[in-house]
Amino acid sequence: MEKSPEEVHPVKVFGWAATDTSGTLSPFKFSRRATGDKDVKLKILYCGICHTDLHQLKNEWGFSKYPMVPGHEIVGEVTEVGSKVEKFKLGDKAGVGCLVGSCRSCENCNNDIENYCSKGIATYSAMYHDGTPTYGGYSDIIIVDEHFVVRVPENMPLAAAAPLLCAGITTYSPLRYFGLDKPGLHVGVVGLGGLGHVGVKFAKALGVKVTVISTSQSKQKEAIERLGADSFLISSDPDQLQAAIGTMDGILDTVSADHPLDPLIGLLKSHGKLIFLGAPDKPVELPVFPLLMGRKLVAGSGIGGMKETQEMLDFAAKHNITADVEVIPMDYVNTALQRLTKGDVKYRFVIDVGKTLRAE
Ligand SMILES: [Zn+2]
Ligand SMILES: [Zn+2]
Repeated sequence: MEKSPEEVHPVKVFGWAATDTSGTLSPFKFSRRATGDKDVKLKILYCGICHTDLHQLKNEWGFSKYPMVPGHEIVGEVTEVGSKVEKFKLGDKAGVGCLVGSCRSCENCNNDIENYCSKGIATYSAMYHDGTPTYGGYSDIIIVDEHFVVRVPENMPLAAAAPLLCAGITTYSPLRYFGLDKPGLHVGVVGLGGLGHVGVKFAKALGVKVTVISTSQSKQKEAIERLGADSFLISSDPDQLQAAIGTMDGILDTVSADHPLDPLIGLLKSHGKLIFLGAPDKPVELPVFPLLMGRKLVAGSGIGGMKETQEMLDFAAKHNITADVEVIPMDYVNTALQRLTKGDVKYRFVIDVGKTLRAE
């Protein structure tokens, strides 16, 4: 007989899980492996609610596994380390993002881009090497190989740091890789949600001029006064678009809903780069002619490798960058997911797992 999630492994864990595509979470008992030689055991303190969690809970990408304990923006305290662990000691604050494993030997892994390893193991709704399911951070304990754990710098507020593990690295990595990280450059950020708002902060800290591109006038004040963007552009306003044509070196497009690309490509200078960070569920319509007229590039980028994730957190700490968060108790999670569906959060929900998750 197949073992129940509680009996598969020796370490008892409590969390909240969805059992079907309704996406409603409820308390759930399961288990994790014992701390291995290279493993770090974390008592989870905070976990962000990423837009991915919504898609995965409802199986919108078609590969969800149930029961599902979501959560890949995890910050916690080290409570146990394996005998061969080098980077962590008891009491350290540490983070786990979207990845808990990879093959460690392919070209991607050897080049510190484990995030692009074809055998990468997602933090939840995936399978470990041993064939048992991965469960995410809406739970009290997680045990992860230290290679996939990052140090959270001393001075960082933990709740507001949690979303950096996904939203932070997702925006930091393309700014660096595509060379949109130099003072004097001009970068557009499309969409001011969980990703976009930290993208603005990282770009500003890198010395880049930032224009927020949005469909909603109501975000202008926020974008400029609260997040420090230099300017604001309504993407549906032909006059504003016309005025900004050919002015941007790059655009981070965080929007996964269908939206026209032609105007965005028009905003780019020659050699400008349009980079997708959100994942639309249908193929997008890409006008090619405007790409030819200026040797422009369209690309995608997904999270970042472990080395870069650490670099991102250290950079964030140095520049006082965190996410703007609404901290919620565990039992508010279903309401939070509904509000997130409507975009009703500024800008990230973070679950106070440490203080509000109670085993029942
Ligand atoms: Zn995420
Ligand atoms: Zn690999």
